[in-house]
Amino acid sequence: MDLKKILLSEADMPTQWYNILADIKMNPPLGPDGNPVSPDALAKVFPMNIIEQEMSSERWIKIPDEVLGVYKIWRPSPLVRATNLEKALGTPAKIYFKNESVSPAGSHKPNSSVPQAYYNKEFGIKKITTETGAGQWGSALSFACSQFGLECLVYMVKVSFEQKPYRKSMMQTWGGRCISSPSNTTKVGREILEKYPDIPGSLGIAISEAIEAALSDETGKTRYSLGSVLNHVCLHQTIIGLEAKKQLELVNDYPDIVIGCAGGGSNFAGIAFPFVQDKINGKNVEIYPVEPAACPTMTKAPFVYDFGDSAGFTPLLPMHSLGHDFMPPPLHAGGLRYHGMAPTVSQLIIDGLITPKSVLQVDCYDAGVLLARTEGIIPAPETTHAIAAVIEEANKAKEEGKEKTILFCWSGHGLLDLAAYDKYFAGLVDNFELSEEDRRKSESVFEKYPKPGIIKSFG
Ligand SMILES: *Cc1c(COP(=O)(O)O)cnc(C)c1O
Repeated sequence: MDLKKILLSEADMPTQWYNILADIKMNPPLGPDGNPVSPDALAKVFPMNIIEQEMSSERWIKIPDEVLGVYKIWRPSPLVRATNLEKALGTPAKIYFKNESVSPAGSHKPNSSVPQAYYNKEFGIKKITTETGAGQWGSALSFACSQFGLECLVYMVKVSFEQKPYRKSMMQTWGGRCISSPSNTTKVGREILEKYPDIPGSLGIAISEAIEAALSDETGKTRYSLGSVLNHVCLHQTIIGLEAKKQLELVNDYPDIVIGCAGGGSNFAGIAFPFVQDKINGKNVEIYPVEPAACPTMTKAPFVYDFGDSAGFTPLLPMHSLGHDFMPPPLHAGGLRYHGMAPTVSQLIIDGLITPKSVLQVDCYDAGVLLARTEGIIPAPETTHAIAAVIEEANKAKEEGKEKTILFCWSGHGLLDLAAYDKYFAGLVDNFELSEEDRRKSESVFEKYPKPGIIKSFG
């Protein structure tokens, strides 16, 4: 009988992360003077051991034993064959998902919050500040800080703070403190509130507040942490794809198509980068990051140098960006409301190794409900974007009569997103698509910055 769940033993869990920087060329991040940023310039924001990891080009990086110890609370995560979905669609495709919803926080995010808390602790840091969109990263970091005895302060984007009060309760349960952003606890927040008192907030603003809070702490023992976008975050997430590859080997399978939803790019990077490495080495595999049509960073926005936050505290990063001033519409999938995209993921698009797709919101909820009614798990609104793309590919395989193998990342469950499902059932979710005209409005910010070179890693 075919397996429903393909499980790895703890002993078979990968003990190294895969670093894609060993295999591609990238534009460097730039400092305020327009020159490549030096590690020292970041030392007040991140601990030096994380900065070194961010800039490392070593292909395999050892996962510390203390991190593996915490990973074992929920890892290795199951690889599940979506047999009920296959039947419902009548597709000859085999569909597998890597179930990252089984972590304590309910998503892939602890794969990076745990090592980040560990490295901060190792460096003698006592408190970590961060931002959170939908509340997933804030809860993941609060959980990780509780494991390593660190304080945690989270700025949560106002719309999500109001829509998802139970995320705050989770953070509090793990000992974290959660503040609605923009807030009057920072200079950046106060200035924005003065100009726009009713602003719904954005990840860019919350990042600015969290960095300011870290920089202004006089003890010198506070640092900031980011839950996506940066190289080291994508690195930590590769345990997802490395495990999935081992699990597929157990059933003698290999994907034709790999799919992940992409907000800042980290869960996509996690499932995809180990397969991108194979593709670089000659394997034939299609790899699709999927984003909302309402916030079309990869499919519509240019490849530029831009800041990761709205106040411009971060270095200039080479990435696809809608502009750091861009105010994404208040989508339910809060985790996908980000103006930029991970520089590594952006570079892979330039290299033609991955092909971005965008999907409409109603199609996503249709897909999410179908999965809940077939495979049982209620997906996070973010995850439904990957699922909508999977269903499209599975239907294509049916039309073509091809037995394709599709692998996707189930980035999180939606048990704290039920208000969004209620809106969908009430017919209040629409298919908003960002118009070219509106996108261009926030584009002028790029004129002031250098342009990244179009570096091709291959050919
Ligand atoms: C945060 C989040 C995302 C988007 O973030 P990435 O860094 O792009 O992975 C996707 N799914 C879930 C469930 C999330 O919590």
